[in-house]
Amino acid sequence: ALPVIYAITPTYSRAVQKAELTRLSNTFRQVQRFHWIVVEDSNIRTELVSRFLAHSGLPHTHLHVLTPRRYKRSGMPRATEQRNAALGWLRMHRTPRDSGVVFFADDDNTYSLELFDEMRSTRQVSVWPVGLVGGRRYERPLVEKGRVVGWYTGFAVNLQVVLANPKALFKRRGSQPGMQESDFLKQITKVEDLEPKAHNCTRVLVWHTRTEKVNLGNEPKHRQDTVVIEV
Ligand code: UDP
Ligand code: MN
Repeated sequence: ALPVIYAITPTYSRAVQKAELTRLSNTFRQVQRFHWIVVEDSNIRTELVSRFLAHSGLPHTHLHVLTPRRYKRSGMPRATEQRNAALGWLRMHRTPRDSGVVFFADDDNTYSLELFDEMRSTRQVSVWPVGLVGGRRYERPLVEKGRVVGWYTGFAVNLQVVLANPKALFKRRGSQPGMQESDFLKQITKVEDLEPKAHNCTRVLVWHTRTEKVNLGNEPKHRQDTVVIEV
């Protein structure tokens, strides 16, 4: 059987949350052998996300962990605790007999279905370019003669590598945004061993899209509808 793709998605409550999760789930529903690990940045599993997942038709695991308030400042890496909670779940609930590939899917990014075909064959750690990131049209790992020699952006990790490195985690200490990922990879692999995907890292199959902040300036002060509408 194909290895299961485990997508780890941190998410938090805001006006666009359900729209983002809807877009993401519409993509993920096209992917076979897929398991969605959704980690809410919250004290609780919210009703909105619980209901959403129940109706999504996707195999899923619903976790939650609140980011401490001191880490909620701009310029700080996001979703560290949520990614680590998902890694912890995998280490508790999966064994060396399970075949899978783990990747991190923010709730606002855009994923080509081809990306899943590419990442599914990840033997240890694979990498690929990401579009619309870092103030550029794209960032990509440098590849020479089929070997990764420079830095990496998008990545997936074989489940067995996650299990074999039980201490590998995303770290807050000394991490700027964007550095946590490479720091995590350093704990589990070497640059020489990275497997380039997406035609030797020449094709963009994922985009770091960001959703515009919603204008709620015309919200009535008091609810006017007699029914509660979930948005
Ligand atoms: N996120 C979160 N809590 C927060 C901010 C962000 O769980 O307080 C999640 C968000 O839902 C997304 C990921 O962390 O899945 C990355 O956040 P964002 O997209 O805002 O970061 P950026 O686009 O700047 O990388
Ligand atoms: Mn984002």
